[in-house]
Amino acid sequence: MTAVAKVIVDVPTMQTDRPFDYAIPNALADAIQPGMRVWVGFGRGSRQVAGMVVAVDTVSDYTGELKPVLAVLDYAPVLDAEGLALSKWLADTTFAFWITCIQTMLPTMLKVDTIKSVTLGPKPTPAAVALLAGANSRPVADLPEATVAKLIQADALRVDYAAKDRAKVKTADYIVPQPLDWAAEKAKLRPNAAKQHALLALLEGWQAQGEQPAAASVKQVTRAQLVAAAKRGWLTLESREVYRAPYEQLDHRAKTAPLALTPEQATVVKTVTQAVSARKPETFLLEGVTGSGKTEVYLQVMAAALKRGQNAMMLVPEIALTPQMVHRVKGRFGATVAVMHSGLSDGEKFDEWRRIQRGEAKVVVGARSAAFAPLANIGVFIIDEEHESSYKQDDAPRYHARDVILHRALLAHAPVVLGSATPSLESRARAAKHVYTRLVLPHRINQRPLPPVHVIDMRQAMQQGGQGDFSKPLLAALQARLARHEQSVLMLNRRGYSSFVMCRECGFVVQCPNCDISLTLHMDTHTLRCHYCGHEEPIPTRCPSCGSNKIRYYGTGTQKVEQALHALLPTARVLRMDVDTTRKKGGHERILNAFGQGEADILLGTQMIAKGLDFPNVTLVGVINADTGLSMPDFRAAERTFQLLTQVSGRAGRADKAGEVFIQTYNPDHYAIQYAQNHDYEGFFAQEMAIRHRGNYPPYYFTIKLTVSHQDENQAAKAIYSLAAQLQRVLSPSAIVLGPSPAAIARLKNRYIYQLVVKYKREPRLAETLAAVLDQTQKSTRSGFFVAIDREPQSFL
Ligand code: ADP
Ligand code: ZN
Ligand code: ZN
Repeated sequence: MTAVAKVIVDVPTMQTDRPFDYAIPNALADAIQPGMRVWVGFGRGSRQVAGMVVAVDTVSDYTGELKPVLAVLDYAPVLDAEGLALSKWLADTTFAFWITCIQTMLPTMLKVDTIKSVTLGPKPTPAAVALLAGANSRPVADLPEATVAKLIQADALRVDYAAKDRAKVKTADYIVPQPLDWAAEKAKLRPNAAKQHALLALLEGWQAQGEQPAAASVKQVTRAQLVAAAKRGWLTLESREVYRAPYEQLDHRAKTAPLALTPEQATVVKTVTQAVSARKPETFLLEGVTGSGKTEVYLQVMAAALKRGQNAMMLVPEIALTPQMVHRVKGRFGATVAVMHSGLSDGEKFDEWRRIQRGEAKVVVGARSAAFAPLANIGVFIIDEEHESSYKQDDAPRYHARDVILHRALLAHAPVVLGSATPSLESRARAAKHVYTRLVLPHRINQRPLPPVHVIDMRQAMQQGGQGDFSKPLLAALQARLARHEQSVLMLNRRGYSSFVMCRECGFVVQCPNCDISLTLHMDTHTLRCHYCGHEEPIPTRCPSCGSNKIRYYGTGTQKVEQALHALLPTARVLRMDVDTTRKKGGHERILNAFGQGEADILLGTQMIAKGLDFPNVTLVGVINADTGLSMPDFRAAERTFQLLTQVSGRAGRADKAGEVFIQTYNPDHYAIQYAQNHDYEGFFAQEMAIRHRGNYPPYYFTIKLTVSHQDENQAAKAIYSLAAQLQRVLSPSAIVLGPSPAAIARLKNRYIYQLVVKYKREPRLAETLAAVLDQTQKSTRSGFFVAIDREPQSFL
């Protein structure tokens, strides 16, 4: 009986979204295990694809002759049984292809590239022979495409596929001293060979230290001397695998000691620690005001898990924006911490992933995708700033990291701590229903007050002596900080807002040729760019529509505010933090370090400065425009605005000096702004829940968004209406269907987009119907439809 491998192939379509059976050749019988990547033939011809073995069996339901597994790409599984199960769960809950989920869970370096090449076919022609230029095979990428296609059709050339694993392990040379009779070696040297004697003395000294990286010795000896010494048998040079460690400089610092907890912190730590010890998969919602010491709670809870011999996983929204968090966790736990986020290079990500997989890391800190890190034996899970929308992925698989963590916690019998000063309505509502256990930290550390918040009515500010974007009180507050050598944080809310170019003569706005959206101005490159398809063009000097030269930039960009600041406060040193100044790797961290070291008086930035910053000398926070996000046609607009204002206000007065906040707004009476002014999360929660209840929105209803796109607008519209009809047949009367309608951006990358949203409470047949819908439309993929299903979308637009 031959063994059978069940393989998910790297062909993401609905028809191929199931395991295919392959015969395991005898030679590979011992090598193949579930969770390994393999190379198999697929479909007709010699097409070869990569795949993942999800099971090994002795029998197959397939009646024909099984194709063999061609090769194994791994020596050990890259996904264990738990990982494979998680990938299947992810596929089922997000309506994504299984292979897409597997790839999402693995580091990019474990993706397999296919190299297409050509060899002579059964009917070679002189042209085909000439093309190969004497070689047996040549990569298709190097050859003229049209000619190759013609020759393949005429059987003059044949296509071959080869797998190229991206995984590259970094190696470095190590010096391994040899046990030697040093006196004897010395005696062999000529007495006047001074350099040789010196080298020998050096090596003798190294003997005691044992092996060491060759790179560390460059100051003392040259590479040539090392090679020569190796020839003499004085040492050996060995190549060793090394990790690309992104935060290595932090690993060697002295560790921070746990702080003595306040009584409030101590109660929270005790409660969670009990659940850790009891291995109880309880979910805690930790509602703690800004500066209440949530991070110290996380650290001590994680320490409790480590003490039990277990590991800990912690998610943070975007590490690039909150480098201080990595410093704090590394500061406490040192080199046992692995960090995973999109700002790392592929090599660094791969190496951190391997450290975790090999059990060398005990704590994982990371952004959304770290929820899939192969950390075993987890004792506690933490999600900081649990309300952040960056935990939801926009592309397939459209998962929410919180759901992944809650699922893993259940399997691991471990508690979860969801922390925030402004929990999502969904989580707070679950705590109200006792699905989650609510824990609170209502005060700042050492009874420091939350900063007073002044709301400034911008409708009147200009009559009262404001200048440009600055009201008089905010300007005066900035001046006072300059005089006292204290620091200020200024936020420009750019949500729902972008800089664009408009003609003052005829009102023409420069639009993307492929998408129904205006192009965004980028001053650093002097171009207009589409944020969706990447289209880029120079800034026009004349209006493309009427020819007028009165074409102007609009929008309160951070650059413009920076210029205004220089004019109004010429002595102020300003650091600007926005997409333009942080494009380079480590850009955020450089700016924040400089600000932390007092190299600037004012940190001016977009939303990216609202989170996680803990600078003792910041005593003023100013919000230049609080309401751009309020006008977004999105039911979460008020919630997002409240969260943003509360978070950014929380940056002021965190240490001994008292803080103060100024919020400039055109909607001073809006409840989101009023509750933020009073630091009243619970008040906001109650009022917002009432509004959601009236509008039948989450958390009272679940939501699912379906999107159909096609290059032909009629086709897209027809498809969404037939989909709507199909859904109406299975939905109960209590379900609400919004739409179908064109999406807010009705055309993207030259595809027309239609959508509908289902709001529902309990629809047992919905999931299976949606799966069937995907199945059908997939069969018509050749006619160019894309269908996307998004559970709990972050935006209805
Ligand atoms: P949060 O995450 O809730 O906004 P942080 O964890 O950043 O708050 O804590 C705010 C400040 O208080 C930090 O500088 C932190 O080091 C300090 N802190 C936290 N807990 C304690 C404690 N028990 N004793 C003294 N200082 C503390
Ligand atoms: Zn575009
Ligand atoms: Zn014009």
